[in-house]
Amino acid sequence: MILDKAADFDVRKYLRLEMMPHFLCPGCGHGIALRALLWALDELDQDKDKLAVVSGIGCAGRLSAYIDANTFHVTHGRALAYASGLALARADLRVVVISGDGDCLAIGGNHLIHACRRNLNLTCLMLNNEVYGMTGGQVSPTTSAAMLTTTTPLGNSEPSFDACALAAAAGAGFVGREVTYHLPKLKELIKAGLEHPGFAFIEVLSDCTEIFGRKNELGSSAEMIMRQTSDLRPSAYRDTVEAPFRPNELATGVLARNDRPEYGTAYRNAARAIKAAAERRGGK
Ligand code: SF4
Repeated sequence: MILDKAADFDVRKYLRLEMMPHFLCPGCGHGIALRALLWALDELDQDKDKLAVVSGIGCAGRLSAYIDANTFHVTHGRALAYASGLALARADLRVVVISGDGDCLAIGGNHLIHACRRNLNLTCLMLNNEVYGMTGGQVSPTTSAAMLTTTTPLGNSEPSFDACALAAAAGAGFVGREVTYHLPKLKELIKAGLEHPGFAFIEVLSDCTEIFGRKNELGSSAEMIMRQTSDLRPSAYRDTVEAPFRPNELATGVLARNDRPEYGTAYRNAARAIKAAAERRGGK
């Protein structure tokens, strides 16, 4: 039944068909993540004119170009900074950020921390493929231990980053994780994040089949996605020494949630109160 509904959803109505063919490699998980996002937006009856998608640099960052909405392809690591200004100035828009693990956690890591802390009403989708795919396969903050990349030819020796733990610790209103293997579950998680009145951080474990998969001899794209369902997957969380959720297991679904006041609402209320007080005093 769920698969029937997935088949019923016509992704083309949210795509810029004139941009096809897309640039993604065969089997890349990012296409599945994009479909899940568009499916979630469709189920929310999202008006495309009221949708803004901001993305940074990298394979994940290219996805905004294919979405038939108001889209912004911005500088490396700064998608959350641009999106924060947009969400604050245009509360009538639904603002979505699409970012990769390098874009969001390395050069953009500081923006992520403060976006979580600030709690503006926007949704950040971080597609984690454990590598800088577009720029040639360099190590990223989520590359698992011992995995090969072009900059770790002897295997990665750095501990990897648990992005969801970081987002939860920094106060994000909604934190969740899902794998691309579970498309309907991923769509539901994204929908829940989109409906959350505050900052939602969603990590999607999405395979880079061509660069990361090939380098580490992880098999075909089908074999790679099947690893997401088994303990064979070289997950960024299997080697985390003190995983805050379930050590050595991949915690998915909604991982943290709070109902802190949304920043934009609090800001606008404060501005209205200051203006009212000034008017009472006879000023402007
Ligand atoms: S390089 Fe990797 S992440 Fe980028 S499009 Fe190809 S498979 Fe996808």
